Amino acid sequence: MSDSQEPKNPLDDLQKQIQEMLGNSNLAAMFNQPPAQPAEPEPEPPEEENDREDTLRRIRDFRMKPREVRDYLDRFVIRQAEAKKVLSVAICDHYNHVRQCIEDEALREKSYVKQNVLLLGPTGVGKTYLMRCIARLIGVPFVKADATKFSETGYVGHDVEDLVRDLVKLGDGDMELAQYGIIYIDEIDKIAAQSTGGGGRDVSGRGVQINLLKLMEETDVSLHSQADLVSQIEAIMDMQRGGAGRKTINTRHMLFIVSGAFGTLGEQIKRRVGKGRIGFTQSDTQQRDDNEYLPLAETTDFIDFGFEPEFIGRLPIRVACEALSADDLEEIMLSSEDSVLEQYRHDFAGYGIDFKIVPAAVRMIAEQAYREKTGARGLTTVLEKRFRDYKFALPSTTIRLFNVDTDTIDKPQETLSGLLEEHEVSTDDVSSQEVDNYSRMFESEHGLTLVFNDHAAKALAAAAEESGKSISAICEERFRDYQHGLKIVSRNTGRHRFTITKTAVLAPDKELSKWVVDSFEKKAES
Ligand code: ADP
Repeated sequence: MSDSQEPKNPLDDLQKQIQEMLGNSNLAAMFNQPPAQPAEPEPEPPEEENDREDTLRRIRDFRMKPREVRDYLDRFVIRQAEAKKVLSVAICDHYNHVRQCIEDEALREKSYVKQNVLLLGPTGVGKTYLMRCIARLIGVPFVKADATKFSETGYVGHDVEDLVRDLVKLGDGDMELAQYGIIYIDEIDKIAAQSTGGGGRDVSGRGVQINLLKLMEETDVSLHSQADLVSQIEAIMDMQRGGAGRKTINTRHMLFIVSGAFGTLGEQIKRRVGKGRIGFTQSDTQQRDDNEYLPLAETTDFIDFGFEPEFIGRLPIRVACEALSADDLEEIMLSSEDSVLEQYRHDFAGYGIDFKIVPAAVRMIAEQAYREKTGARGLTTVLEKRFRDYKFALPSTTIRLFNVDTDTIDKPQETLSGLLEEHEVSTDDVSSQEVDNYSRMFESEHGLTLVFNDHAAKALAAAAEESGKSISAICEERFRDYQHGLKIVSRNTGRHRFTITKTAVLAPDKELSKWVVDSFEKKAES
């Protein structure tokens, strides 16, 4: 779209229209108030300011080598050697260029092909994870969106420029940091022009590709969305108060990563390769999974797939991520820092439970996850299913060691029941702890002490077991009137300490009424 065809920013007209509509109302007065003195800037907490300055300094002085970036990625991401290599180089080139532009303003005017990246590959193999790790390493903000949520006009769905605004919002409005951010757009294959759009989209992907083009190259984006009236009014108010009104941010130094599964592209390349027999023998060609052809994708393949030549041209770096095998999933659990299994270990540790797992159980989880066919996401699905009841039940027991073996994975329900039976005695201990907790809370809130005898504690535990509620919830229900009744008793008799028996647990209101009546009788006698 040429500049002359660009839709006119309605900001200027809007201000006039709103003021006309408002006439002489108070709101109009508010708009017309003399520019206020700019408010004193809030002093930021020094620590945050230091963090921010450190991050900006790290970006401005970026000197990392591709090998360092790759080594960092190796700590978290299993396999994807080619993607790691390509991304490490692209990242270093990009942020080196940013540094050079900051050092030498004249460089900005020179033409430079931005290192925007196209990542191909099936779901759950680490495409987003690679980029998240990189953003964390460099300290830049990172936003991710699905290409399917955008529409050409921004009427249905969102405007592509919202991504840039999200980047600013993510950094709490820090525009300086946001201009070096990374924008990740997934499902890019869904905006190929031949796609029918599906799901009620009203425009072909072509328009979205054109809009994205400008963004990926270099453009100024207004921080106030044109499609958002509130945002436009804010801009006007800001201007009236002496602010800049229309703040913009430039996308020159932002890095764009687009990705997609490109389901049918592999097959398309296979046909091309099959015809020319480039790279593989005929028998190779028959055996290979279609995804394995993605690394052979050429610009023409993407154009045939439905991308505009200008669009695909703005994505000079293309790399395919491999599908993950069961061995890879096992490796993720065993050696990736921050793996989902690590998270489970951490979650149990939060309740003081030591989580241990035997290698055979890890293997079993990997195989089950592989059958999900969603890459490493399958691990989360399997772990959640296998451990959900343990996560619910174990924190309320005195179990401090959770040893996971193949039986735990194979028969989670039976193994859990067995474990709980073994710890029945200690479960009683937990019940009495919960009763004590309630009694302490009652005392601190109302200044009256409830002493639950053993029979009462057992009756509460049984009620909790039967109803599936916690002991404290049962106490809240049954003794909700006790604070009022016992205060009367306390006033009449001077007592502050009350023994709760099984009778009180089973018929709390009846017992309380009796105590109140007795207390009045005692008072009358004395
Ligand atoms: P996608 O390829 O669809 O972008 P993600 O990168 O979002 O998939 O992967 C989902 C999650 O699975 C990640 O957050 C990460 O925990 C895990 N994961 C995926 N691939 C790998 C991998 N190769 N190594 C380690 N963990 C991975």
